[in-house]
Amino acid sequence: MTRPTSRAPAGLDRYAPVPTGEPLALAALLGDGRLSGGSPAVTDYEHALTRWFGVNYAVAVNSGTSALHAALHAVGATPGTEIIVPATAPPATAMPILTAGGTPVIVDVRRGALGLDLDDLQRVITDKTRAVISLPLWGYPTGDKDAAALLAQAGIPLIEDAAQAHGTRDAGELAGTIGGLGCFSTHDRKLLSTGEGGFVLTNNPELHQRIESWTRLGHLDGATHGVNYKLAAPLAVIGHHRLAHLAGQLATRRANAQRLLAALPADGVIRELGVPPGGSPNQYTLVLTADTPNPRFAEGLQSAGIAQDSRQYGYRPLYQRPLFARYARPCPHAEVLAASTYQLPTHPGLSPAALDWIAAHLADLAQGARP
Ligand SMILES: *Cc1c(COP(=O)(O)O)cnc(C)c1O
Repeated sequence: MTRPTSRAPAGLDRYAPVPTGEPLALAALLGDGRLSGGSPAVTDYEHALTRWFGVNYAVAVNSGTSALHAALHAVGATPGTEIIVPATAPPATAMPILTAGGTPVIVDVRRGALGLDLDDLQRVITDKTRAVISLPLWGYPTGDKDAAALLAQAGIPLIEDAAQAHGTRDAGELAGTIGGLGCFSTHDRKLLSTGEGGFVLTNNPELHQRIESWTRLGHLDGATHGVNYKLAAPLAVIGHHRLAHLAGQLATRRANAQRLLAALPADGVIRELGVPPGGSPNQYTLVLTADTPNPRFAEGLQSAGIAQDSRQYGYRPLYQRPLFARYARPCPHAEVLAASTYQLPTHPGLSPAALDWIAAHLADLAQGARP
């Protein structure tokens, strides 16, 4: 194999925003003049979201964190209640638990996977448990349908933090539609972007009503407590416009991921993170893994200009962050996973030359990663 040239191409930022172009839609809104979260443009966007995801209700909000806080509020997370969250969670997943006044209870994932470890889950459920968060991190399906069934029997809601999982399929269903509540972010570095923003999906009319009212100041009826988490209309217009591009972008991401996977040696030492049956990642990023942490491989990617979450964001199990250290529990699977996952760009902005360059580097580094 020829050694790849060392000059890094443009576009290696794996979470780069993908420009689309919506000046006409925005100009029409500015002409209309109604720019607040109460504009009909926001309702139109919410309806478009329900159609895209095939759910009954969507509530647009001003961030993914607000979406999680609203979902937690709706299921009754208050001081004295416990919210179960996987150890793979970044702080943004768990901070809304603290905001709601609840206590995070950290649970391990299955070995080599993102799904909740059912044995550990059963160990941590108490009569104070108000909800469980499922996390399709990097847009990889969790296979948490089994957990959802177990929790449904116990009457405990499952909230999906699908902030990175627009278009991910899990057992054939879209992530964010598997539990009772699906929370999404539309921050600039997510697959559907409005700059800042988010939304909550549900099929449950009562939960919808509670979230809608809470995020809109209780509709100022003077009787109901609420917060103002509304999404401003210009952002809703951008989201509505970009939603129409999402399916095409997902197809390109999946094709780019296949192109990179084809460059890996067949020995499987470095391979794609496992996908449960019937699952399909959205390739927010292509995630590779190894049986044991391989710092040399991570270092090789990083120094080639392919940034790694472990370096760029200090990605690690939740309880290894000072803010969550007091909630630490032994989560050996999450620790191995955090140290042995590697991220590669797949976004639609990658040129064919950039893809070739990444594939060549990947082949070379994976070859060098063999024991
Ligand atoms: C981005 C993100 C959030 C927070 O979303 P914001 O819109 O930035 O508030 C929460 N959870 C996960 C997994 C995320 O990736």
